Amino acid sequence: MPKIIGLTGGIGSGKTTVARILEEKGFPVYYSDDEAKNIVNKDSILKEKIIELLGNEAYSDGIYNRKYVAEKVFNDSELLEQLNHLIHPAVKIDFEKWVASQTSEFVFKETALLFELKLNQQCYKSVLITADDNFRIKRTMDRDGKTYREVEAVIQKQMPEKEKCKLADYIIYNNSDLDSLQVATEGFLEDLN
Ligand code: ATP
Repeated sequence: MPKIIGLTGGIGSGKTTVARILEEKGFPVYYSDDEAKNIVNKDSILKEKIIELLGNEAYSDGIYNRKYVAEKVFNDSELLEQLNHLIHPAVKIDFEKWVASQTSEFVFKETALLFELKLNQQCYKSVLITADDNFRIKRTMDRDGKTYREVEAVIQKQMPEKEKCKLADYIIYNNSDLDSLQVATEGFLEDLN
């Protein structure tokens, strides 16, 4: 079985960018958030449970309405937890199937919630991508067209970077340009071997 490396970071930290670099180098990457988006549309039992929890508006024309769901759970941590309780076991099963089909020595699991869901316990190593808030906010504003306050509000709801740094086996700092991020990722890979 491949060794699983958890790749995580808060909003706009650069974890997807690092994941793409790793893919370019031939490492398989499982994108948990993207897969979760597929699963909520594909899994009919899950779909029913989500509608039961959040109402019919959770799907529009049979497609998961992310905007509606995000707005509904953003300020309701109990509801968010209930939703996560439905989605995460389905993602876990899908991930385990995916890992079993891989032949590489290392595979990466990209997820924003590695530590929050204690998924690091199933990993051989955990890697945190982090950057100062001002970089993360600016990059997310540019990428998503969000306002400063909107991004800041998300950061405030996520696990503090300090706590994540304590839990991570390896930290990649993304406070410079993309070339530096590439070099830092290569440095991590050298340490892995
Ligand atoms: P989210 O959790 O919000 O999806 P993420 O951690 O996956 O975020 P990315 O999407 O990889 O973050 O990066 C956020 C944005 O910042 C992207 O548009 C990416 O191209 C850009 N970016 C990442 N790192 C750098 C960098 N060092 N210099 C310039 N832009 C960067």
